[in-house]
Amino acid sequence: MIAKQNVLVLNCGSSSVKYKLYEMPEKQILAQGYLQQIERDQYENAIRSIFDSLKDFPIDLVAHRVVHGGETFTKSVRIDEDVKAKIRELSRYAPLHNPINLTGIEIAQSIFPDKMNVAVFDTAFHQSMPPSSFLYALPYEYYEKYGIRKYGFHGTSHRYVMGRAGELLDRPKEQLRLISCHIGNGVSITAIKYGESFDTSMGMTPLAGLVMGTRSGNIDPGIIPYIEEIEQTNTTGAIEILNNKSGLMGISGVSNDLREVMAKAEEGHYQSQLALELYTTIIHKHIGLYLARLNGVDGIIFTAGVGENNAVVREMVCTGLEFAGIILDRETNRNCKGEAFISTPYSMVKVMVIPTDEEIIMAADAYELSCVHFDSST
Ligand code: ADP
Repeated sequence: MIAKQNVLVLNCGSSSVKYKLYEMPEKQILAQGYLQQIERDQYENAIRSIFDSLKDFPIDLVAHRVVHGGETFTKSVRIDEDVKAKIRELSRYAPLHNPINLTGIEIAQSIFPDKMNVAVFDTAFHQSMPPSSFLYALPYEYYEKYGIRKYGFHGTSHRYVMGRAGELLDRPKEQLRLISCHIGNGVSITAIKYGESFDTSMGMTPLAGLVMGTRSGNIDPGIIPYIEEIEQTNTTGAIEILNNKSGLMGISGVSNDLREVMAKAEEGHYQSQLALELYTTIIHKHIGLYLARLNGVDGIIFTAGVGENNAVVREMVCTGLEFAGIILDRETNRNCKGEAFISTPYSMVKVMVIPTDEEIIMAADAYELSCVHFDSST
């Protein structure tokens, strides 16, 4: 066992940087912040300004969120030159994210050359999926030669809520079948079987799966060349439309923020009503899919911005799942705050709201790796 460590958790997203400084193992937060609307060429300055603002704190470890770990990374790792080269290589699957994640790593290494840096991957938790979940029905060599397969994302969030669900249910996660619904701007649902990801809704990229704030989720791929023709654009242009102009935003024509869409729907705006209907129906259908995949379920978890805060969505999603022993307590659902059971006491399946905390998992992984490193080097 080693002494206290200050772990800086750095999450460099496509247009924002979030950070949190923890004292571990106590999980005490010493500092935190959020920089938004960062342009690509401003990342270096933004990250440097964060390190600058933290110069009064001793920092022992830095944990970096890395979006794509491909098949190479099944858990968090200590970063060395080889790991950096792999993350760079995996940029082909996440061209908007991995290069920015690498920038964060390189700046941290230049400022703290003798500190340990750890990479925590969004995809790692899903590496336990079997081929029947991750393969696309394409020529097999596309998988073998080019790695075209489902990777899944939001892994750190699904892993965190799985752990909390086990604690709340007072049962080892190895005995539980869970459906974890991460519903934020990005939306993904994961079937968790006995402590491992068994299937998930996002794909090779985070564009696949459910209806999201601005992303379409699954569509017939045959639509893409038709969009190219209508919009007089190329494939990149069509994908840009699926990524940024679709989802809640696309259908409602109002906003990617569900609160705004719901306010308009209340006023009778037809497209907003449709957007809400489609959004919740697809979550509902995915739960059905994973009920089949898991042969029943012990718990359903709602997390992230919408999952944690929007009782209407939770109620719409759970209505019509009573046949499977999923009975929502509407009153409790409407009034709950923070972690809560929102199913009735006699509901066979426990429905839970669990606020996600990806940062604490990142800090814990980094701390654990530093302990292993310490143990093996003494
Ligand atoms: P991201 O995926 O970018 O981290 P979030 O998890 O914050 O996004 O989710 C954003 C969505 O969550 C928005 O559609 C917003 O309407 C919803 N949301 C966030 N906070 C609240 C809240 N306090 N009440 C209701 N909805 C919320």
